[in-house]
Amino acid sequence: MDTIITRFPPSPTGFLHIGGARTALFNWLYARHMKGKFVLRIEDTDIERSSQESVDAIFEALEWLGIDWDEGPFFQSQRLALYREYSKKLIDAGQAYYCTCPPESLEQMRKAALEAGENPKYNGTCREKGLGPSGRAVIRLKAPVAGTTVLEDIIKGTIVFQNAELDDFIIVRSDGMPTYNFAVVVDDLTMGINTVIRGDDHVMNTPKQILIYQALESSLPAFGHVPMVLGGDRSRLSKRHGAVSVTAYREMGYLPDAVINYLVRLGWSFGDQEFFTRNELIQKFTLDNIGRSPGIFNPEKLLALNADHIKSAAPEYLARHLPGFLEKKGFIAAQGPFLNQVIETLQTRSKTLLDMADSAVFYYQGIVEYEEKAADKFLTAPYLEALELLAEQFENLNPFDQPNLENAFKTVMEKTGLNFGKIAQPVRVALTGKTASPGIFEIILVLGKSRVIARLRGAALFIMKRES
Ligand code: GLU
Repeated sequence: MDTIITRFPPSPTGFLHIGGARTALFNWLYARHMKGKFVLRIEDTDIERSSQESVDAIFEALEWLGIDWDEGPFFQSQRLALYREYSKKLIDAGQAYYCTCPPESLEQMRKAALEAGENPKYNGTCREKGLGPSGRAVIRLKAPVAGTTVLEDIIKGTIVFQNAELDDFIIVRSDGMPTYNFAVVVDDLTMGINTVIRGDDHVMNTPKQILIYQALESSLPAFGHVPMVLGGDRSRLSKRHGAVSVTAYREMGYLPDAVINYLVRLGWSFGDQEFFTRNELIQKFTLDNIGRSPGIFNPEKLLALNADHIKSAAPEYLARHLPGFLEKKGFIAAQGPFLNQVIETLQTRSKTLLDMADSAVFYYQGIVEYEEKAADKFLTAPYLEALELLAEQFENLNPFDQPNLENAFKTVMEKTGLNFGKIAQPVRVALTGKTASPGIFEIILVLGKSRVIARLRGAALFIMKRES
């Protein structure tokens, strides 16, 4: 079997949209699954709407998602000579022709067709004129006037188009720029693309592209048109439904692996499995299980899946992503065992990395900031002795491990007559500033002896000051 070669050809007219990312992902996963190639091509022939900023944003989003490409990025704007060469080939073979019909007569044709209740079509005035190139000439494909063009779609099945409905559409504009359908075919052909998976908003373009392949006497790639991603109200996904830019999810503390897991499930399934690691997706992804109904984007589901990925990720993996979020809060978290342990205590409690960074702040504070309510309730005189005694007990603990910590607590409980529940909350506030945190022994072990003792003494001092 030939090597599978897929592609992602975004138009750089904005950020990478969730729907576009899903298309990229399907092509990438299929290429990886088949040990094929994935090509990145930037479709920037619409100079007005394209921008370098968008190109950069697309690269950045793909890189963040971990979607890497084997060839490219190619830029259509740098391939104009190639499109010229192919249009010349078609003209020489009698498969395309120059047309100089002025805009007014095209407009008349359009009006007449609409009045007659028909689809506007070019009437073929220049089809047999044998015109040569000229400043205002466009190039049209000499399309068949009868018969059918058949799309054997991997996802949608067979779709038959009546050629009588199609017309001699433009492949090169009067300014020499190729139209989308023509550039795509020349590119896909010359890049050896044999599998085209894209949104079904392109279904109506496909018969035109098939006609161009046929005019060039080339074999067709396999086409698969994926239903669009919709919002909860079943309209096309847009800002109204929540963040639709991929990088917005990065800023909100989502993991790239969770986002790709969620995206792939918007249109592909493997039994009723919901959670997939990246490697599992590469192993299991084929085109057979792409569904025919649209994926409905559900931000809560994505959040829940993100929480699952955070829970099951290796701390070292999260350690690559978390420090950026802490830095935004003014804390430098160096790589190393401390960071990994911090993460381990927070994995089951964080839905996003932003949550995790919020909860991790106390580990990095030089001086713990007490929440007012927490301090009012728990950093008060009745607990002063317990905090001081605990600090004292901890001084002598060797090793500073869980069994010894438990004994130290027992001693303090006996001496003060307070039960564990009563002591644990002031200790928690002393160590974290808050009334909710990971397990008390977990935090004590991660913070380590000297930090714990300093924080207990700091809290004792705080109580003495406020009581005096
Ligand atoms: N540039 C087109 C788009 O972004 C690509 C369509 C295709 O896959 O052929 O929609």
